[in-house]
Amino acid sequence: MYSMKRTVSLKLILSAEQAEFLLQTQVNFAKGCNAIASHAQENRCWNQVRLHNLSYSKVRLQIPLLGSQMVCNAIRKVCASYKVLKIKKKQEVPHIVFKETSSIHYCARTFSLKGETLSLFSVNKRIRCSFKLGEHQKKYLVCGKMKEGELIRKKKRWFFNIVLDLAEVSPKSEGDVFAVDLGENNMATTSRGTIYGGGELRHSRDVFLDRRRKLQSNGSQAAKRCLKRISGKERQRVKKTNHCVSKHIVQEAVDFGSKVIVLEKLTHIRKRIRGNKRLRTRLHRWPWKELQNFVEYKANAQGIQVVYVNPQYTSLTCSRCESVGKRHKHLFKCSNCGSYQHSDRNAAINLCKLAKTAVLATAPVNVPMVAAA
Ligand SMILES: [Zn+2]
Repeated sequence: MYSMKRTVSLKLILSAEQAEFLLQTQVNFAKGCNAIASHAQENRCWNQVRLHNLSYSKVRLQIPLLGSQMVCNAIRKVCASYKVLKIKKKQEVPHIVFKETSSIHYCARTFSLKGETLSLFSVNKRIRCSFKLGEHQKKYLVCGKMKEGELIRKKKRWFFNIVLDLAEVSPKSEGDVFAVDLGENNMATTSRGTIYGGGELRHSRDVFLDRRRKLQSNGSQAAKRCLKRISGKERQRVKKTNHCVSKHIVQEAVDFGSKVIVLEKLTHIRKRIRGNKRLRTRLHRWPWKELQNFVEYKANAQGIQVVYVNPQYTSLTCSRCESVGKRHKHLFKCSNCGSYQHSDRNAAINLCKLAKTAVLATAPVNVPMVAAA
């Protein structure tokens, strides 16, 4: 069974007064977090129960406006912030500063959603407001179970992100195998022959890497600022691309009636990629893992299993007669049967065969079955 979490983002429609109330709540919540963070730092403690015992009553006295539930939420936020730092035993504990712009954590007791109205705790009084939400996200709201929320302010706009637990999906028992080859020429090629992310994507990645290199060697403050800005933008663009490509891949698998998507183990992709330095740099820096993660969770949502195989020889073997052939950039040529194929597609078909011959019932498939050279 696959269990899933999804986040939906509500864009809040607020009156001037309500926005002011939330702003005050945010300021007080940050104050609370900072007070709690001092206790956490002093006592080297980010266990929620222990930190609660250490700080709760003090912070309640210090900031009475915040209310008991919000103090609990603040404790939770502080614990989470410290936990991600993975502080080692002898390492000094940093003091985390929570800005007045940081988000507010809401547990299920401090917000509720009824129909088109969201009710939120604020330090003045509970506010009720309406919101905007995309059609796609509405579906999740209807079928998911609400766990917790995060109130976020971006400039003057307010968003409330709700984390939902979705019903479990049982894996498909019937269906074919579908493979995706991660690419040298293209980002991804499916065993059905669809190719994702060719020239344009490659070009904009190159432009970015080039600019980054120049800014890094420059080293001035302005260059650093610029680097930070363009890196953020590039990160967004890459993520969007990965989301988009993974969505299409999974949709194709669904249309094809697959029960399994085969992906390659990433440890091998870097080894098998040859080519000039520029090509290697580009490939090494594409976040393949993220793409695979996106494919995996989107596939699981459809009841499709994802398996990882060792893609040894998939790019060197002919998918028609299984003898060893030669590849020349986009083209794979087999001297045995004389066929020409798109090299990435050839690899994807081999990957697919590999997974089919290996036992698919057990998840980690790792048996290279294609004839070796
Ligand atoms: Zn052949």
